[in-house]
Order: sequence, then structure tokens, then C-alpha cells
Amino acid sequence: MFFVSGDSKGLSVSATICLVRDTMKKPKTLQQAIVHFANPDNCLAFMVERRWPNGVECPTCGSKEVHFISTRRLWECKAEHTRKQFSCKVGTIFEDSALPLDKWLIAMWMVANCKNGISSYEVARALGVTQKSAWFMLHRIRLAMQNRSILKLGGSGSQVEVDETFVGGAARFMHSDKRKRRITETGTKDKVAIVGILERGGEVRGTVVGNRKKHALQTQIRAHVKAGSAIYTDALMSYQGLREQGFEHQVIDHAEKYVDGQVHTNGLENFWSLLKRGLKGTYVSVEEFHLFRYLDEQMFRFNLRKLSHDGARFEHVASHIFGKRLTYAEVTGKTTATCN
Ligand SMILES: [Zn+2]
Repeated sequence: MFFVSGDSKGLSVSATICLVRDTMKKPKTLQQAIVHFANPDNCLAFMVERRWPNGVECPTCGSKEVHFISTRRLWECKAEHTRKQFSCKVGTIFEDSALPLDKWLIAMWMVANCKNGISSYEVARALGVTQKSAWFMLHRIRLAMQNRSILKLGGSGSQVEVDETFVGGAARFMHSDKRKRRITETGTKDKVAIVGILERGGEVRGTVVGNRKKHALQTQIRAHVKAGSAIYTDALMSYQGLREQGFEHQVIDHAEKYVDGQVHTNGLENFWSLLKRGLKGTYVSVEEFHLFRYLDEQMFRFNLRKLSHDGARFEHVASHIFGKRLTYAEVTGKTTATCN
């Protein structure tokens, strides 16, 4: 919904782009989203409303003296500098992608709302893109879902569960030589530890940690939980000493029972089962290097599980796509980039 005034020929005549607020009802279901974003102007309006609510600005110099080239859905800055032309993808997780916005936005919708995640193979088939493109899209979308809040959870009167789990070691998919090398008697050599912190009635935070020793776990607790909070954990030795640090620490010994009144970690058990269902059922084999991104994705959905409809979760991801970039080299850990 752009109205471009001025000489239709062009670039030399001042053109004013007015964005008319999208009064159309925002999509609430996948079906409505597909219909809505099938129109490229709706995609563009969606991006502009969120990116430049006070008018389109040149991402290079910040000038608002820009000309909209409607045939290409691009802008051109009137100031003298290189990279005069820009699209609404610049400076977002979509930057450098040749894929159209309708595919990006629908992929975002699916990841934001599929409870067990969605694999790159499913996205590839649903959108008609290659699996490699879909894999890269999903990782970029996970970057938008990343929550790096520095606000601590809990506080006086709050109840916080802390627990740890191991993921990985999908032995049945491994070549037998690899399996022999990786699977040892303790069964955890190939697994990665994750520490989870859940404020009851609130947010979950999960972090991939190298081990579940005292230092690793308590560093996370101090970083994410306010002193004075009630903390419930299992009987692992690594949690000893939390009382001395100002937490109301209570222990449930799983060798005896799983629940003792308020003292349990069932909220986190629920999150772990969701996470593992996604990792085992949908993603199947996840490299340790990428694990934190899958964790980010599952935390995002879990923390927004109470939103009333799928469109609200989609909006939430959409509000975090700006000012972030992820190159192919970064996502694969390689030095040469081959962006699609
Ligand atoms: Zn400029």
C-alpha cells in the first residue's frame, strides 16, 4: 500500500512515499498469512511498518530523501554515496537473500508456531526452495528468536526451578566406527549438558554448558536468578552452597520421590520433553555447534506459549529481524561465505 507521487519517469523528480497503515486485519492463521503475503505489496508494507515506522530512511546515510522505484520495490537515496539503492531486506536477517519475502514470512510463521519445530526438508517442500536454502533460512530465523535478556528471573516470593539435562549422542545414526569411538561406558561422552532455569508462571532460560559441575551450574544461576528467589533443584552436589549465596534453596531427591509439595522440577521436565521431541523427532541429528540455536527456537515458543493466536507469535519474531545478520560462513563455522 504505497502511493508514489511525482513524475512517473522518475528518479530526478521528488517522490513522496506515503505508507497507509495496513488496516487489513492481521493474519491469525497460516491460511490467512499465505493469502495475505501472496501479495508482494503486503509483504513490503509489513516490512516498512516495522522497520521504518516514521518514514523510510537510507540505511547508509540515514537520509529520508529517498525515491521509491515501484517497479523493483527498491528505494534510491538522493545523497551522493555508493550503495544508493536499497531494499527492505538490508540490515535484517533476510539481507543478501534472493528468496522473496512471501517465502521468508511464511517460513517464519511456521517456525514460530510448530510446537515440535519444523525441519529444513519440510520447509523446502512446503515453500518450493532447496533444502540447503531452507536450512539456512531456519538458522537465520532462529537468530531472530534468540532472547539474550539480561534481566534476571525470580525475586522475593518467586519460585524458580533449576535442572540440567543431556542431549545428543544419536548413536543409531552413527557409523559403527564412530559409534565405538563416541559411546563409552558412562554414556555421556558424546552428549552435551544444558542447564535450564524456569521461573514458575514465567520464562525459561536454557544454556549449553560444558559440564554440570558446580562452577558451570552456579554461574548460570547467579547470572539469571535474583537473590532471594526460592530455587528448587534435584540432589545433585553441584547445587550445594546456594543458600550461602542468598537463595532459598530446596532439594527434591529423585531417588526418593519426584514431588514434595512445592518442591519439584516438573515445569522444567515439561520443557525438556518438548526440546527432546523436537531434537529427536524433527531435527534428528543436530551438531553440538548448532545446538544453542535449536534451544533458542524451543525457548521462544515455550515462553510465548500463552499468546492467544499464532499471528501474535509471528509478530514477535518479526519484531526481532532487524539489526541482525547471519552469514552462511558464520552459521557453518567456515570462512568462505556462499549466501543464497
Ligand atoms: Zn543515503
